[in-house]
Amino acid sequence: MTQAQYDVLIVGGGIGGLMAAYGLRRQNPRLRLAIAEKGRMVEQRSCPAAGGRPCVYCPVCSITSGFAGAGAFSDGKFNLGTAYGGTLGEELGENLAMQYIDAVSEVLDTFTPAGIEIREYGSNEALKLKCLQNNLRLLDMNVKHLGTDNNLLIMKNLIAWLRENGVDLLPNTDVRAVAPEDGGWRLTTNREDLTAKRLILATGRNGAEFVGALCRQLGIAMKSNAVDIGVRVEMKDAIWREFSSQIYEPKILCRTKTFEDRTRMFCFNQGGIVSAENNDGVVTANGHSFADPAKKTENCNFAILSSIRFTEPFNNPTEYARSFSKMANLIGSGNVLVQRFGDLIRGRRTNDHRLGQNTVIPTLKATAGDLSLALPHRILTNIIETIYALDKVAPGTANDDTLLYGLESKYYSIKPVHDGDFRIFEGIYLIGDGSGICRGLSQSGAMGLYVADRILADGQR
Ligand SMILES: Cc1cc2nc3c(=O)[nH]c(=O)nc-3n(C[C@H](O)[C@H](O)[C@H](O)COP(=O)(O)OP(=O)(O)OC[C@H]3O[C@@H](n4cnc5c(N)ncnc54)[C@H](O)[C@@H]3O)c2cc1C
Repeated sequence: MTQAQYDVLIVGGGIGGLMAAYGLRRQNPRLRLAIAEKGRMVEQRSCPAAGGRPCVYCPVCSITSGFAGAGAFSDGKFNLGTAYGGTLGEELGENLAMQYIDAVSEVLDTFTPAGIEIREYGSNEALKLKCLQNNLRLLDMNVKHLGTDNNLLIMKNLIAWLRENGVDLLPNTDVRAVAPEDGGWRLTTNREDLTAKRLILATGRNGAEFVGALCRQLGIAMKSNAVDIGVRVEMKDAIWREFSSQIYEPKILCRTKTFEDRTRMFCFNQGGIVSAENNDGVVTANGHSFADPAKKTENCNFAILSSIRFTEPFNNPTEYARSFSKMANLIGSGNVLVQRFGDLIRGRRTNDHRLGQNTVIPTLKATAGDLSLALPHRILTNIIETIYALDKVAPGTANDDTLLYGLESKYYSIKPVHDGDFRIFEGIYLIGDGSGICRGLSQSGAMGLYVADRILADGQR
C-alpha cells in the first residue's frame, strides 16, 4: 500500500477549512495537513472590477474564491448564536453548537492584533417591541463585528500561523475529481494529483457542483433546500440610525400581507457600499461596510429576500434562483440592475436621467432598469410589502429615492445526508456553506472546529 501524502486534506480555504486546519494543527503538531484552494493566496486576491467597474468574469472570482474564502472581503459580522445563519443548533443541539461558535470567537481573538478594538453588540428590548407593534419580528443575537479591514487582517494572521506551523497551503489548486485509493483518496486537480487518508470538504456555496457530482459518484443521498430571492436595498444611513446605533445589525422577519410568505431583512451595512459578485458566471448584488470611519459612506444597505421552499417533484431551487439572476443580468447587459423604489411602484424603469437626480447616490455602478421584468410577481409583491412594513419602524425606507439592486439570492447548498458528525462517507467530512447546513461565518467556522475534534477523537478513523 502506498503512503498517502497527507493525513488530512482540506478542500477549500474559507473560514470552515481554516478553522478545521487550526483545530487539527493546534492539537496535533504531527499530522500531515494541507489545504487545497482553487483561488489565490489571500494577499494576491484582487478584483479587476473593484471601484464600481462592471464584472469582467474572471475564471476564478477573487471576491468569492481564494484563501480566506467568500468571507475575505465581507463585513466580518460573526453572529454569535444559532437563530440565523444556519441550522447548526438543530444538528448538534443548542449547547454544543454554542460551545463551538464561542470557540470560533476565541480563535478570532487569538489572531486579533493588540490595539484593535472589536465591537460586540447585544439585543435591544425597546426596538424589539417597536417591531412587534408593527407586525415585524426583530431577531435577537449577539454579533461580533470585525469590519472588512480587520476581518481580512485577522484571516491573514490565521493563515500565516497555519503556514508557520507546517500546514501545506496549496493555492490555485482546483480539485476536480476524487477517487478511492489504498484505503484513502486520490484527488485529481488542475495541477498534480494529491493523496490523503481523510478529506474535509469545505468548498462553500461555490463548490455546489463539485459536491453534487461527488455525492452522485459515491451514491450519497441529498436533500433539496430552501432558496431566498430578492434585492439589495440602499438609502440614506440616517433612516436606520436608530437601529444601527443600538444593535448594529437589524435582522427583521416579516409575514407578507397578500401571500403570507416569509421575507427577511438582513445583512445590514451601516455606512456601507453595495457590491457585485460573480457566482459562477452570474452577477448578483451584495453589500459590505468598513470599520474604518474614513471609509464610511452616507448610505446604508441591506437585503430583503423572500423565502421559497419547493415541494415535490421540483428539487432544483438553486437553478431556479440562478435563472432569475441570469434574467436580470440579461436585461442589465451582464450587470446588476438598479431601480428607484418610486419608479418600481409606478411601473416604469429607472433611467440614467432619473438616477442622476436621485437624492440617494448609488455606491455601485449598476445598470438602471426595471426589476419587475426579472422577478416573479409573488416575490416582487413580497418585497414591496416588506418595504412598506419596514417604513413603519424606520420612516423613509419606502421613499421614492430608495434604491433596489437586483438580484440578490441566498440559498443553502444541497444537503447530503451525514452521520451526525458531518461525515458523508467513510473518510469524507463536509462542512461550512457547502454542507447545506449553514450560511454564515460563525457556523461554518464552528463546523470546522467540530470536525477537527471528531477526527482527532476518532484517531483519524
Ligand atoms: C460579500 C459577502 C459578504 C458576506 N458577509 C458575511 C458576514 O458579514 N457575516 C457572515 O456570517 N457571513 C457573511 N457572508 C457569508 C460567508 O462569507 C460564508 O457563509 C462563509 O464564507 C462560508 O464559509 P465556507 O468556508 O463554508 O465557504 P467559503 O468561504 O465559500 O470558502 C470555500 C472555498 O472553497 C474553494 N473551493 C470551492 N470548490 C473548490 C474546489 N473544487 N477545489 C478547491 N477549492 C475549492 C473556494 O474557492 C472558496 O475559497 C458573506 C458572503 C459574501 C460573498
